[in-house]
Amino acid sequence: MSENKIPYKIYLSEDEMPKAWYNLRADMTNKPAPLLNPATLQPMTAQELEGVFCAELVKQELDDTTPFFEIPQEIRDFYKMYRPSPLVRAYCLEEKLQTPAKIYYKFEGNNTSGSHKLNSAIAQAYYAKHQGLKGVTTETGAGQWGTALSMACSYLGLDCKVYMVKCSYEQKPFRREVMRTYGASVTPSPSNTTAVGRKILERDPNTTGSLGCAISEAVEVAVGTPGYRYVLGSVLNQVLLHQSVIGLETKIAMDKYGVKPDVIIGCAGGGSNLGGLIAPFMGEKLRGEADYRFIAVEPASCPSLTRGKYAYDFCDTGAVCPLAKMYTLGSSFIPSANHAGGLRYHGMSTTLSQLYHDGYMEATSVEQTKVFEAAEVFARVEGILPAPESSHAIRVAIDEALKCKETGEEKTILFGLTGTGYFDLYAYQKFNDGQMSDYIPTDADIAAALEKLPKVE
Ligand SMILES: *Cc1c(COP(=O)(O)O)cnc(C)c1O
Repeated sequence: MSENKIPYKIYLSEDEMPKAWYNLRADMTNKPAPLLNPATLQPMTAQELEGVFCAELVKQELDDTTPFFEIPQEIRDFYKMYRPSPLVRAYCLEEKLQTPAKIYYKFEGNNTSGSHKLNSAIAQAYYAKHQGLKGVTTETGAGQWGTALSMACSYLGLDCKVYMVKCSYEQKPFRREVMRTYGASVTPSPSNTTAVGRKILERDPNTTGSLGCAISEAVEVAVGTPGYRYVLGSVLNQVLLHQSVIGLETKIAMDKYGVKPDVIIGCAGGGSNLGGLIAPFMGEKLRGEADYRFIAVEPASCPSLTRGKYAYDFCDTGAVCPLAKMYTLGSSFIPSANHAGGLRYHGMSTTLSQLYHDGYMEATSVEQTKVFEAAEVFARVEGILPAPESSHAIRVAIDEALKCKETGEEKTILFGLTGTGYFDLYAYQKFNDGQMSDYIPTDADIAAALEKLPKVE
């Protein structure tokens, strides 16, 4: 089919939708390092993990050989409500940039959670339901994950307890109301409802909370309440597995039109959208069937891949979770408060960390004012108000397209547009008022946090 026949939006029919998730680890020669028990430093067993997570999800977490996991029919039916997500040919952005590059983006913001998080939330809630559980607990920072999980739980009739970082709880009251509308209970963290929360409040009554602290509270409640388990919205292998639906749909749509991307770009917080988008393409690269450039984009204020260390670390600041080998800034690293652009996690998916370490993927970091400049350009020509997180990928996609303008290369660029920014208007306001600034941690800041890494090898 000729180039100019490519529609502005490429959708798939129900028959064309993926029927199985793809497990990228099956095609990796160097598998991601196992999670370790922090007390014994031995790999976590399924039995140990099942005290915290649903049994079927533990299986998915530990399986690095099975390439495909069938998507249960009930989840496929739920996906039909908001999937396929559109693959958009960014004709208007290409025109604006006057670039010979062809730009595509996969837009995951067309659901009430406003992000890709719903793809894994429904899967995790489904396995909890089928295990006969009463409910799940989780933490949320900005709120997209908590919203996605409350939607999935209400659909399946599960109870959902969300621990929301206190400053977000106060700054984003509307996110909280969306979650409550879906029936979730939302508790500002740290709270008096848990031992760990009470301890933190005793030490620092005025704390505004952190993701690490909210994780510790959610885990405590899950482990201590019969019929409950804990679920997590990023970082874990199981989440990357579920998010492979993004990449699989993209690949099917591109193959249909004979389009092959040269470079694939995604923002990286814990790595779930990027891992999902690149999965089938990376699989081809690992099997030697095709070659692609992959670029992970992170904020300059929280640069785990580009400036962190590949080492075992805690997944949370409370140090209750297993140790994971990943690119990390240290679990005690706290990004500057002036950073509004999301992607504030100190570590990175173990799978993506291994791929980056082995040279299969590149990484770059960008400053938040440059990110919001890209968001503004994009919003004005493509119409969608992008999430600040997603705008990291937009920034680098624009930069790659501008390079093509200089060299005259007609590269095909694909990026993940993970969500919308309607709950980030405070950050947009700062940008519009010219009051947004950049913050880059010093080498000494990073060294100080890395100093506190647990001593493993
Ligand atoms: C959570 C989130 C991200 C970052 O998470 P990953 O696990 O790295 O994908 C990016 N964009 C949006 C809109 C999000 O909600």
